[in-house]
Amino acid sequence: MSGTSRLILVANRLPVSVDLGDGQVNIKASSGGLATGMRNLAKAEQTSWVGWPGAYPENDEQRVSLEKQLREHSATPVYLSSRDAERFYEGMSNSVIWPLFHYMVDRMPLLVSDYDDYRSVNERFADAVCAEAGEDDTIWIHDYHLLLLPGILRERLPRARIGFFLHIPFPSSEIFRLLPHREQLLRGMLGANLIGFHTYGFARHFADALLGTLGIEPELDRVDVDGRSVSIGVFPMGIDVQSFERLAESPELPERVAQLRQAQGVEQLLLGVDRLDYTKGLPRKLLAMELLLQRSPQYRGKVRLLQIAVPSREAVSEYKSLRQDVEQLVGRINGSSGSLHEAPIHYLYQPVTQAELVASYRAAEVMVVTPLRDGMNLVAKEYVAARTDGDGVLVLSELAGAASELGEALTVNPYDVESMALNLDRALSMPEAERRERMSALREKVRAHPVERWATSFVSTLEAGERGPEPRDLRLDSSELDRLATTLAEQAEVIFALDYDGTLVPIARNPELAVPDSGLTELLDMLAGMSGVRVCVVSGRAQASLAAWLGKLPIDLVAEHGVWSKRANEESWQCHIDPSALGWVSDARAILETYVERAPGAILEEKTAGLAWHYRNVDPYLGVHLARELRVHLVRHFAQLPVSILGGRKVIELRPQGLDKGSAARDSLSLFGTKAVIAAAGDDRTDEDLFAALPDGSISLCAGTLATRAAYRVSGPEQVRRFLRRFAETRTLPRG
Ligand code: UDP
Repeated sequence: MSGTSRLILVANRLPVSVDLGDGQVNIKASSGGLATGMRNLAKAEQTSWVGWPGAYPENDEQRVSLEKQLREHSATPVYLSSRDAERFYEGMSNSVIWPLFHYMVDRMPLLVSDYDDYRSVNERFADAVCAEAGEDDTIWIHDYHLLLLPGILRERLPRARIGFFLHIPFPSSEIFRLLPHREQLLRGMLGANLIGFHTYGFARHFADALLGTLGIEPELDRVDVDGRSVSIGVFPMGIDVQSFERLAESPELPERVAQLRQAQGVEQLLLGVDRLDYTKGLPRKLLAMELLLQRSPQYRGKVRLLQIAVPSREAVSEYKSLRQDVEQLVGRINGSSGSLHEAPIHYLYQPVTQAELVASYRAAEVMVVTPLRDGMNLVAKEYVAARTDGDGVLVLSELAGAASELGEALTVNPYDVESMALNLDRALSMPEAERRERMSALREKVRAHPVERWATSFVSTLEAGERGPEPRDLRLDSSELDRLATTLAEQAEVIFALDYDGTLVPIARNPELAVPDSGLTELLDMLAGMSGVRVCVVSGRAQASLAAWLGKLPIDLVAEHGVWSKRANEESWQCHIDPSALGWVSDARAILETYVERAPGAILEEKTAGLAWHYRNVDPYLGVHLARELRVHLVRHFAQLPVSILGGRKVIELRPQGLDKGSAARDSLSLFGTKAVIAAAGDDRTDEDLFAALPDGSISLCAGTLATRAAYRVSGPEQVRRFLRRFAETRTLPRG
């Protein structure tokens, strides 16, 4: 590996076209939006590509020659066999994920059986990336073919900066949950440091899916997972504006446009340019055209829809039958709405060159882009970029990602054929002043966000973010945990400062149910009875339940984050707050009670100096929604009062200001400032205060997945108890 950091771009297809005809190898750089977007980056960074070249060499000689030429394009191939093409590409990627992410659940096969191949191809991509990349490099993975790749790479390169961008929609969580293997696919995506979408709506759906499918509660723009913070960002992709403007202003263009117009011979031309894909809404677009001619016969013979359908995924059976349907419909409409002199629909099933495309954009008065669902839709933006003359009308589906930016288009519901027909009429009869006004606003937006900007903004966000998972991998396996306990057992004096819920016992559905089992009380009793060992439970729980459950043990207790404390050898509890400063409690209770009513399953917990609203039994979406609302409500209401408002694990808590587990351990129990080594364990944000207050030389364990300042991470209460048991076992062994 070289010392400089690089940017590795990973996509299903390399941005080249490979021709292996006649035993020769010919490679041409392709000019797709992605490749263009990256070109500018390539100037600033050392960039290389990993992906499928789109061809399989027939022999070693061809392979060597192909790879040599690919290297000249800074590209590393991942070869897909015909089985991979069938199962990874046509199967899982294009017959399962593609339709489902576009809300077309019925287009999925009855049996989803290609997941294993999808996974193994993702692993092969990981092999190829690892052969290229080191932990100091930045890796940017593209699209739905590679949803598992971020997770696989995270395992292999824990510190690498990994970005993932989804070019297609992310569906509503109610649709997403229908996907077999949904958990693995989401976990795969979460391997990234930054996950990007075209629209805010897709990002929101993704956040909902994390909550609904994995029970992870994300913020809008980030989520904590396995102790890492994963950012979620919105980066609407643009187009290569310059190249479209250049073509639109080229000296040959007026002649091409004139030829095209003359050949079409109508007064107004409507244009559609779509890959022939069922997401593009071609049948309804054709029906809208038919309806327009039926309702407004004055257009007959005067307007035509030129529909360019670019062949796509012809090996997938759904695409074959779509082609038949579309061609039948074109035939029927031309047959019934045409005449001896003309046909209302001019249909092409073939790709066109970029020059022809731009000439078509300029020749068409109206561009009709009506996908049923689309990640972005670049054609809509290309039409706008090509209209350097400032004229032309864009009819745009509300369900294309582009609609979230291009509000000045005539937006339509692509499922509503009648309304689309009305909007076609409106577009054809729009006064010039309005056309120009709308186009000028659209042009400003498209020009302000070219694809180069999209690429640099994604990469700079990725590079500005945090690295790796954590400065080091905190997770302890069982044998490391045992070693840590054994070493601690050799210390003369040890103090354990232990949180209760989620640390010593699992989180229960209802806080009242988290009663300690006899195994736990015996363990704590045994530890506390050892010479040189002191045990403190430092909890946010109400004093009453700690007193009832643990009060008889020879251990120190802190309740309600420090409101109360009790020494092991004393009967009485000390109170550390002024009860007259609790005037806010009754007000807070009234507010929380309304939230208990609104959230079936929510519980109000009363403490002597505080309140907690628990929502772990509430529907996850409602719970998170109300928790956010409640926090804002409380912050506003109690802004001037000495109250702290805290969010814990599925709980919102109010307690007197100035108390936290760290200050409680220090002040009320004088845990710190002794010669003893302190070992602290906790699981949620309130325990971070304890970790932060620990003196040097202490040991800290975080149980669970939250981002933490603890020195080590364990999986949960089972592991914490294992640690304590191992400590007790080794300490009682005779020393030799
Ligand atoms: N396009 C093409 N060949 C053609 C016609 C169009 O490559 O014959 C290009 C078009 O210029 C656009 C892209 O294909 O850049 C289509 O992108 P879009 O986002 O509209 O849809 P997608 O095909 O990605 O679903």
